[in-house]
Amino acid sequence: MNTKICPSCSKEFQGRRNKKYCSVSCKNQYHNEEYRNSNQTVITLNRTLQKNRVILKDLFKVYRSSAIPLSVLEAHGFDKKFHTHLFNAPSGDRYTMVYELGYKTSFDNQIQIVEMDEVV
Ligand SMILES: [Zn+2]
Repeated sequence: MNTKICPSCSKEFQGRRNKKYCSVSCKNQYHNEEYRNSNQTVITLNRTLQKNRVILKDLFKVYRSSAIPLSVLEAHGFDKKFHTHLFNAPSGDRYTMVYELGYKTSFDNQIQIVEMDEVV
């Protein structure tokens, strides 16, 4: 048994040579913290994408694929810089996708929202 300092709570504890943390909860907390810090960019980006997806989903329930101004999305907080991929439909239409939801831009900054059955 060696005396060690827990890197999570900074308390001294006794433990086997390979024991690094004083408790399982300290170990988890330390790793969660590390994960949060190293992935903050990804977490922030994912949050924005999730928000965009929810906005598309909610507006799709109301408007289906009717043409609506892009400003309606933006008024709900939609940030058009963030999307997951582009989809070129066989019809030639190009959709900007946020997961399974997306939209195509038509004339005058009007958009039409679509929901794909499968992510393409
Ligand atoms: Zn600890």
